[in-house]
Amino acid sequence: MPDVKFFYGDNLPLEMHKARIVQKLELKPIGQRAQAMAGAGYNTFLLNNSDVFIDMLTDSGTNAMSDRQQAAMMWADDAYAGSETFVRLEKMLKRVFGKSYFLPAHQGRACESIISQVFVEEGSVVPMNYHFTTSKAHIVLNGGRIEELLIEEGLDVESEHPFKGNMDVQKLESLICELGADRIPFVRLEAGTNLIGGQPFSLENLRAVGRLCRAHGILIVMDASLLADNLYLIKRREAACAEMTIEEITRAVAEECDIIYFSARKLGCARGGGMCLDDGDLYLKMRELIPLYEGFLTYGGMSVREMEALTVGLEETMDEDMIGQGPEFTAYMVDALKDRGVPVVVPAGGLGCHVDARRFLDHIPQEESPAGALAAAFFIVSGVRGMERGTMSEQRDADGSENPAHMELLRLALPRRVFTVSQLGYVMDRLQWLFDNRDLVGGLRFVEEPEILRFFFGKLEPVSDWPERLAAKYSEDFRDSL
Ligand SMILES: *Cc1c(COP(=O)(O)O)cnc(C)c1O
Repeated sequence: MPDVKFFYGDNLPLEMHKARIVQKLELKPIGQRAQAMAGAGYNTFLLNNSDVFIDMLTDSGTNAMSDRQQAAMMWADDAYAGSETFVRLEKMLKRVFGKSYFLPAHQGRACESIISQVFVEEGSVVPMNYHFTTSKAHIVLNGGRIEELLIEEGLDVESEHPFKGNMDVQKLESLICELGADRIPFVRLEAGTNLIGGQPFSLENLRAVGRLCRAHGILIVMDASLLADNLYLIKRREAACAEMTIEEITRAVAEECDIIYFSARKLGCARGGGMCLDDGDLYLKMRELIPLYEGFLTYGGMSVREMEALTVGLEETMDEDMIGQGPEFTAYMVDALKDRGVPVVVPAGGLGCHVDARRFLDHIPQEESPAGALAAAFFIVSGVRGMERGTMSEQRDADGSENPAHMELLRLALPRRVFTVSQLGYVMDRLQWLFDNRDLVGGLRFVEEPEILRFFFGKLEPVSDWPERLAAKYSEDFRDSL
């Protein structure tokens, strides 16, 4: 039995907030959903939200704001330079991470662009626990390449390892010996490792990576976009940290890192992003690029209202009652689906529930995008929008050959404090139906394929008339009009 208060009964998560503003949802009939999916080229990114019932595409910019965040937006101080709003945000970040300097940016990938431009050059190699789409793209764009040094269990969807986001320290040591520290501008560690199912690293692992990097004079850059979930999971799963407060864990994590960057669309439940660091020389180098690409130093592309919401959001992230809401709702969903035999990534991480499309649709070959097909099929039968996180989300190699992803996942993101337990119940019910009828789902192939980050705009078509057959069966079972 968990020792935290936001549970009741048989481990059901309890909302530690109430809804005071609501948004009406519409569940369109299956015929219209199937049509909308076809119109969107079977890519859930291209759906209109008006056709979506429950939007689990992402947690990016879709988390619920608190009353205090909304109120703070009203007292934002509009100024191009030197606004009070910026001073408040800077102070809060100093309190949370204990770093001397803060550079604002319009969102997470802007930080990745700046860090890559400053540190990565032709021939650079950036070791990391695992890549994120935009972080890899920026490193490659600047002439570098990445080396993923995740522990073996990290890629095993069925492994119950509590810290699947850990880096293999021995592999990192070998790589440093092989290449020499000069080729390695920094080691990137991603908190709540997104593409492998929101999986955390442990403080112990981070400290081991830190010792090794310091011994070789290599910087550690942490992608803290999904840090909140990682902090909570450290507290729950790492015995040595069980008695620490979230603030203490945050400081201990931050101490190991030279640069911390984040997307405030996730961390802090607001918009925007930024970078925190202690080194004055690095700060000056990175600072030059902010006015060029982002905006003046006291807003960096963020509106003052976003910055106020972020300041309060960061403070609320440190709230022990609040920080567990995301990961505990995710755990509830992951555990329940696992009990029903639906293949999901275990143990539950942050961010959302990740359905293992390879096992779910084991009759669809990887070339026909099982994860993309599952995302499309699930939208048709439920109105729930998830996101493909598999081969479609990878880029082709320089010679044009496919780069098969390690995992084929349908991600059902749980924006923080947005959906209720009964809405999760609906999602699981429809997913179960689809699992029982999985033979009806077929593959997809590209008809329009952009070269960079193709998953955003790419269009696909079904390899057969399977969407029609799937919709017909659903319509029969649920008396939903075609
Ligand atoms: C979302 C995300 C980013 C990019 O942030 P944006 O604000 O969307 O640009 C970078 N890294 C991770 C781990 C993310 O989840």
